Amino acid sequence: MSHTPSRQDFDHYMAPNYAPQQVIPVRGESSRLWDQQGREYIDFAGGIAVNSLGHCHPVLVEALKDQGEKLWHLSNVFTNEPALNLAKALVDRTFADKVFLCSSGGEANEAALKLARRWAVDHHGEHKDKIISFYQSFHGRTFFTVSVGGQPKYSQGFGPVPGGILHADYNDLESVRKLVGDDTCAIIVEPMQGEGGIVPGKQDFLQGLRDLCDEHNALLIFDEVQTGVGRSGELYAYKNYGITPDILTSAKSLGGGFPVGAMLATDAVAKSLVIGTHGSTYGGNALASAVALAAVEFIDTPEVLEGVKKRHDLFREHLETINRKHGVFKEIRGMGLLMGAQMSDAYEGRAKDILPLAIEEGLMALIAGPNVLRMAPSLVIPEADIAEGMARLERAIERLVAAA
Ligand SMILES: *Cc1c(COP(=O)(O)O)cnc(C)c1O
Repeated sequence: MSHTPSRQDFDHYMAPNYAPQQVIPVRGESSRLWDQQGREYIDFAGGIAVNSLGHCHPVLVEALKDQGEKLWHLSNVFTNEPALNLAKALVDRTFADKVFLCSSGGEANEAALKLARRWAVDHHGEHKDKIISFYQSFHGRTFFTVSVGGQPKYSQGFGPVPGGILHADYNDLESVRKLVGDDTCAIIVEPMQGEGGIVPGKQDFLQGLRDLCDEHNALLIFDEVQTGVGRSGELYAYKNYGITPDILTSAKSLGGGFPVGAMLATDAVAKSLVIGTHGSTYGGNALASAVALAAVEFIDTPEVLEGVKKRHDLFREHLETINRKHGVFKEIRGMGLLMGAQMSDAYEGRAKDILPLAIEEGLMALIAGPNVLRMAPSLVIPEADIAEGMARLERAIERLVAAA
C-alpha cells in the first residue's frame, strides 16, 4: 500500500526549523489551491511573493515542459541557450550590464556582498570593508547574508559572525551619515522592507543613500528579492523611484515558483568577478532559466504591470472597507502587489492569529513580523478572486474581533 503523507510526517521526518500550517495543499491553478481533502483556498500568499503568475500558469508550464524535454542541466563548464537568453533579457530591461545566475535570494545576496568586497579590494584596498545595512532588513540565511540582515534573532547563536557589518535605522538618513566613511564598501538596502513589515523606503532616504555612496566611493546594492519582477508595479522597484543601484539582486518572483536567483551589476563593478572568484553549480541551470525567461517576458509588459497597479488599488479599497467596519488596522501600506496591513493598538501582535482563521475560511495569507498582515498574491490574480478572498478575510477578522 502506498503511504499518504500527513502533517504528522512533517514532525517525524523533517528538520524542525519550520512550523507549517496543518493543511497540505496538493494542487493549484491560478490563484486557487486545493488541499488533500479537496477543500479550496484563495491564495493571497503567493508562496511568499514567489508565484508571480499564480499556480501552474500555462506560459510557465509550457516553458517548463518544452525545456524539460530538451536539456536540464550542464553546470558552468558549458553555457546554455536559456541562461544566455535570460541574462540578455535582464540586461536589456534594466540598468545592468552583467548578470550572475544562481538559485535563491540568499545566494544572489551572498554574490552581491562578496562582489562588493572584492571590488573594494581591487579599487581601493583592504581597509574599505564596511558594509552598511539596516535594522529589520532581511537578506537571506547564509551566514554572511543573515549577519548583514538586521534581525539579530536570525544570526545569533551560531558562534562568531563575519565582521565589517554595521546597521543603521531604515528611512533615517542621519543614522547612516553617522556610520558612512571612506571605509564604506557598500550599502545594502531593500527599496521596501519585506520581512521587516512591508515598509516602503522614502524617496529622499533612498536618494540620500545613492548620494552618500557616490560621495564615499561605495556601492549601492538594492535587494529586490521580494520587490522585484513586477511586484512593485514596475519590473523592479528602483524604477518606481528613479534611483539606480550599482548591484541589484532578484529571486522569488523571478522564477514564478521555480528556484532561481540573479545578481545584476554594472560593467565597472562586475569586472571584479574574474574567473574563479565565485560560482554555483546550479547557477544558470537551463530548466530554471527557461522558466524565468518566460516569467520575465510575460510580466514585463504594460498590460501586466498596469494590472498590478490596478489590483493594488483594489486590495487597498477592500482592506479599507474591512477596516472601517472592524478597526483592526492602523495602517495599510505597500507597493504594487506587496501589501501590508499593520494591526491597530488593540490587536498589537495579533497578525499571526488571523492566519489559521483565514485558512478555516478558505484563504491563504502571510504575516511580516507579528504585527503586519502581508499579502503577496499572483500579479495576475483574477479580480473575482480578490473580491472572494477579501470576503473570506473579513469573516476571519470578524472571528478575531468576536473572540477579543
Ligand atoms: C526572501 C528574501 C531573501 C532570501 O531569499 P531566499 O530565496 O530565501 O534565499 C533575501 N532578501 C529579501 C529581501 C527577501 O525577501
